[in-house]
Amino acid sequence: MQNRGKIVIRGIVQGVGFRPFVYSLAQKYDISGWVKNLGSRVEIAAAGARFSEFCRDVSGGTVLSVIDSVEVFPLDEDVGPGFVIRSSGEGSLDGMIPPDVAICDDCIKDIFTPGGRYEGYWATSCVNCGPRYSIIRTLPYDRERTAMEEFPVCTACGAEYTDPSCRRHHAQTIACRECGPSLALLGPDGLETACADPIAGAAAMLDAGKVLAIRGIGGFHLACVEEAAGVLKARLGRPEQPLAVMVREDAVERYASPTAADRQDLYSRVHPIVVMNKRDPAGHTGISSLHTIGVMLPYTGLHHLLFARLDHDLLVMTSANMPGTPMITGTEDAVARLHGQADAFLVHDREIVSRCDDSVVRDGYIIRLSRGIAPKRTAIDLGARCILGVGPELNATTTIYRNGFAVTSPHVGNVRNPRTLAYLQETVEKIGRLLGADNEVIAHDLHPRFLSTRYARELAEQTGAELVAVQHHRAHIAATTRDECIGIAIDGVGYGDDGAIWGGEIFAGVVPHLERVAHLQTVPMPGGDLATRYPERMLYGILPGEETLRLLLARGLGEVEAGVLARQVERGVNVAQTSSTGRVLDAAAALLGICRERTYDGEPAMKLESAAYGRRPEAWDLAFGKEGNCRTLRTDALLKRAADAQAAGKNAGEIAAAVQYNLARGIAALAIDAAAERGIKTVALSGGVAYNAAIRETIRKCVEGAGLSLLVSRDYPLGDGCISFGQCVFAAADAAER
Ligand SMILES: [Zn+2]
Ligand SMILES: [Zn+2]
Repeated sequence: MQNRGKIVIRGIVQGVGFRPFVYSLAQKYDISGWVKNLGSRVEIAAAGARFSEFCRDVSGGTVLSVIDSVEVFPLDEDVGPGFVIRSSGEGSLDGMIPPDVAICDDCIKDIFTPGGRYEGYWATSCVNCGPRYSIIRTLPYDRERTAMEEFPVCTACGAEYTDPSCRRHHAQTIACRECGPSLALLGPDGLETACADPIAGAAAMLDAGKVLAIRGIGGFHLACVEEAAGVLKARLGRPEQPLAVMVREDAVERYASPTAADRQDLYSRVHPIVVMNKRDPAGHTGISSLHTIGVMLPYTGLHHLLFARLDHDLLVMTSANMPGTPMITGTEDAVARLHGQADAFLVHDREIVSRCDDSVVRDGYIIRLSRGIAPKRTAIDLGARCILGVGPELNATTTIYRNGFAVTSPHVGNVRNPRTLAYLQETVEKIGRLLGADNEVIAHDLHPRFLSTRYARELAEQTGAELVAVQHHRAHIAATTRDECIGIAIDGVGYGDDGAIWGGEIFAGVVPHLERVAHLQTVPMPGGDLATRYPERMLYGILPGEETLRLLLARGLGEVEAGVLARQVERGVNVAQTSSTGRVLDAAAALLGICRERTYDGEPAMKLESAAYGRRPEAWDLAFGKEGNCRTLRTDALLKRAADAQAAGKNAGEIAAAVQYNLARGIAALAIDAAAERGIKTVALSGGVAYNAAIRETIRKCVEGAGLSLLVSRDYPLGDGCISFGQCVFAAADAAER
């Protein structure tokens, strides 16, 4: 056996403790040589009798690394004696930006070790944990190119940094109370309070029911105890919106009923918000009026220290920003913009270079792709050209493909205002810079007036890149699979080929040839966007007539408004056309009196799901129709059946369950028929409505019952967070044919 060689390892090998890991193995196996980091690869020159064992263990990687390939070449230089870590060099950066990771168990232990160097220190971290993306300015990842640059290490930290036997050997975020970033508790005016222990001071205020703004890893949260949730909601002007909570580890089951899979997600390195069923579906209504609750565990030293000093075991923790707008990161900005909302500010003095919201998952499906997951890197061959997907309008992310890897940004938000557009541009520039991207193809939504579309056009004009417009729901399917399939895309809104608002779509074929073969019935949407805000308008759009009007008047709709609505639908004035699944669910929520006005994204449909939770649905006869070449599911017949059941005095929860169940059966039937006609064996499902467990699992049961397999992505969000990736996949396939 050869006892020397040059080992080249590719993947996410920077910022993940790879060099010290290699060093310690070299000590263990008495190997001489060197290790060097070059962007997305590590090169190791190694010689020694136990070379093969060394090689085997090195190939295993570190906790946080992702290894794409390991190659061994002949070594053409003399090495040794001894083993050294060489400084990082420039290299190709193939999508190797490490995400922020939750604090590890060893570091938690350090924080609570009496008399230890890290006792009570909020920013304790090591090579296996802590912030990365949010503090990185440029690559390669070394301290001087991060926000830690302003904090030169003290002697003790320096000793650990250079000690090969230490967990913080070459840990770029190493810091302690002596040398690292520190905390302060500021009053409502932003002035520092005379508080010796800011964490204890903050805990006391929280226990007393105050609302605190807390500067975390990726941005500010607003926090309070459960009893103060009403105050917080009132200050935010969002009385109905469910709030995420952070819960002490031993208290999770007091609030939620986690499944084994939920528990795995809760404790994963990401530490996302996990949406779970509540322990008592009707409990904790101050936090959420739904049957679900979004729970995360403490994920930084600061959180652990806070809970250690807090009498409560739960904190409401919501991003400090208006929904859809970027998270606040700077302290000055927070003090200015959270005036009147926060009673105090618990802040640190380390710059947040890139903001990063909390990730959200439900049943293992990603709802918000952000902290700990993003930048998300996928090895995929989309050809030789560099591609940028700018994303849709709502819940946007952005994706850059280069050189065999697609890298998707953290959640950007709703690109509907200048602030979020600026954040989108900033994110494209930052990730582009880190990847060394030179966008040759720019993919954008088909909607001509989206700010993201305009941005794509401007960028293409500046750079000469080729533009590809990608229809929203085809991007959903492209994000799910590149193989031949029947694609089901069910969501709220997306601009269709015909300019109508799509959202209940069934395609057949292979990306980019996804033919629309079936959809939900096209129905009027009186007043356009107004019908999204007021679902009763949508109900009238689907079920126009005296009966519906009487119901709406009884519910409190004004006479004048009712008259306008009726005339609008009758004459088709200011009426958009839609096949959206979300709007059908909205209309059902309105019919059942569950939601009259939508105050947050997805509210009517989410409340409908909660009303249906635990109810046994009844199977109804389905009605199908035809529009052009497409088969349709008649949603007017479905809602008529629901209205009849309501008139017969049936329970609203049971009707809600039946609406979801039969809508899902109908969508599945369209897909199964399309698959049978074409001999296709796979069905792909995407779109925000697929987060609804009852609908998703009914579709699964029907599809699998018909002998077909169902693909639902666990790698990308089912909602619009997957669109930028899907745009890249679609554009690559499209461009390849031209
Ligand atoms: Zn650690
Ligand atoms: Zn130190």
